[in-house]
Amino acid sequence: MAVRLNEDKEMVQAIREGLKRTGGYCPCRLERTEENKCICKEFREQMADPDFKGYCHCMLYYKD
Ligand code: SF4
Repeated sequence: MAVRLNEDKEMVQAIREGLKRTGGYCPCRLERTEENKCICKEFREQMADPDFKGYCHCMLYYKD
């Protein structure tokens, strides 16, 4: 299992700016809850899932 940033640097920068604006909450989600703090619960579960391969919801990270 390997997790890396999206190869699209502009995308990474835009999401990082979003994270800065929200104070660390997922910029793609409305709710400011603990499970939506980056790295969010959804992607933590996807990282733990041996069958998952792909981007996180915001496309900041890629897991293969
Ligand atoms: S979807 Fe990606 S960027 Fe958004 S909180 Fe989850 S891991 Fe972070």
